[in-house]
Amino acid sequence: MLNRQGRPTNAGATSAEAHPTFTGNKALAQIEPLIFEIGHAQTTGVDMDEPAAFTPRLGGLERKDPIGLPGLSEPETMRHYVRLSQMNYGIDTGLFPLGSCTMKHNARLNEKMARLPGFSDVHPLQPVSTVRGALEVMDELSRYLVTLTNTTTVALSPKAGAHGELCGMMAIKAAIEARGEGKTRNVVLVPDSAHGTNPATAALIGFTVRPVPARDDGWVHVEDVKKLIGPDVAAIMLTNPNTCGLFENQVVEIAKAIHDAGAYFYCDGANFNAIVGKARPGDLGIDAMHINLHKTFSTPHGGGGPGSGPVVLSARLAPFAPVPFVTAKDGVLTLVEEAADAAETPFGRMTAFHGQMGMYVRALTYMLSHGSDGMKQASEDAVLNANYIRASLSDLFSQPFGDKPCMHEVLFDDTWLKDTGVTTLDFAKAMIDEGYHPMTMYFPLVVHGAMLIEPTESESKASLDLFIAALRDLAMAAGRGETDRFSGAPYHAPRRRLDETRAARSPVLKWTKPAPMAEAAE
Ligand SMILES: *Cc1c(COP(=O)(O)O)cnc(C)c1O
Repeated sequence: MLNRQGRPTNAGATSAEAHPTFTGNKALAQIEPLIFEIGHAQTTGVDMDEPAAFTPRLGGLERKDPIGLPGLSEPETMRHYVRLSQMNYGIDTGLFPLGSCTMKHNARLNEKMARLPGFSDVHPLQPVSTVRGALEVMDELSRYLVTLTNTTTVALSPKAGAHGELCGMMAIKAAIEARGEGKTRNVVLVPDSAHGTNPATAALIGFTVRPVPARDDGWVHVEDVKKLIGPDVAAIMLTNPNTCGLFENQVVEIAKAIHDAGAYFYCDGANFNAIVGKARPGDLGIDAMHINLHKTFSTPHGGGGPGSGPVVLSARLAPFAPVPFVTAKDGVLTLVEEAADAAETPFGRMTAFHGQMGMYVRALTYMLSHGSDGMKQASEDAVLNANYIRASLSDLFSQPFGDKPCMHEVLFDDTWLKDTGVTTLDFAKAMIDEGYHPMTMYFPLVVHGAMLIEPTESESKASLDLFIAALRDLAMAAGRGETDRFSGAPYHAPRRRLDETRAARSPVLKWTKPAPMAEAAE
């Protein structure tokens, strides 16, 4: 049987469940237990002699029981981790349309540069006179970030977007305290469509969050902001382009209203990848904005890290930028590590050392290898790809804010699934069977059953066409009432549908050794 692209498919083949294998493996898909289940304390990957007798000097604090770590030989260890890695889905295995997260290709050139011994082997406690090259990378990256955003300075050290938000908001808090308004300005405006980290950041450092209600056109309106502004407002946190995939069309008026009221404009810059080289946030009136290097500048994501979230700051906030930072003294680059050594008034520091050096090298490599024209083209292609998907699906899928062009990501709601018996979650699970990581689901919260798709500029037209065809095929199956294809999905993944609510509410984070068979039977 051939699919729509004329490729052979598995449809109609007998289900794998009808032919269980002895090992539980399914051809190249190897089953893999936890390392604690297969390891033995007696096995080890290295041969070491028993240590000679010695007297412990830990004053009785030394471990008396076996450490309980699993032991495997070297090949067993390698197979364990390689098999696990094969169950994973990443940008290197397929299209990863996770909206807002910008899962773009991580160019191998970036990796090659980051592995140069002069970068990979330096230690944060080395004397700065021995790491001038690393300081130059930080300085040059800073210069590009400041130029691309038209701001005054950048704090490089935050280690993720959310950490960058915290850094930017701490600079705002320091500026307000320096004005003597620390007690009175304690409210932060946050639109309903914001990423959860925005209100969390504001609340974490003691601000009260005042929500800006969502409108049915997906934009934040200046008159709504004006109604909520008062002498108690410290800042607005606004995402632009926003999480509905739209460029905030009143951003300049909003910035002016915020500044007129004596407050600051924090911009969530997670979606900067849509406008790099096209618009400079500084020109739009922002005071602080984090830039997720792992989104816009193609450094790898991974398990929530190791990210990097530098924060650019306007002239009004620059004096409060945290230490450490790179500066030139008598023409030589050096690192200012202590607030007391700074000419300005840093609010403190965000990290033990200088931040994620490996990410700085990768991001700078991306910038230099693309050049200014290349970065601009990447933004344009990201927007073009998202609109290609939007236009190719708009006859089947429903768009919450009408059929209008989007930026780098396209947002659908679940109106089109009404009465099909299929939910956004079911649809996403069925995408796994088709070999795709699902799109971002149920975010932004202001859109019912949201599906946020961000293809990025990495994908070729052929890859987008196959993705579109797969989504259309699923959508038509939902329309025909083929609920089985969705309700039990994923059928082909190593793990089937999990009880995600239970996993979140009562997570079991520790493996406990099952009782031996004989004991269990007693
Ligand atoms: C990703 C993202 C963040 C948080 O960034 P992390 O690097 O994941 O901490 C904040 N806001 C928006 C809109 C995002 O997409």
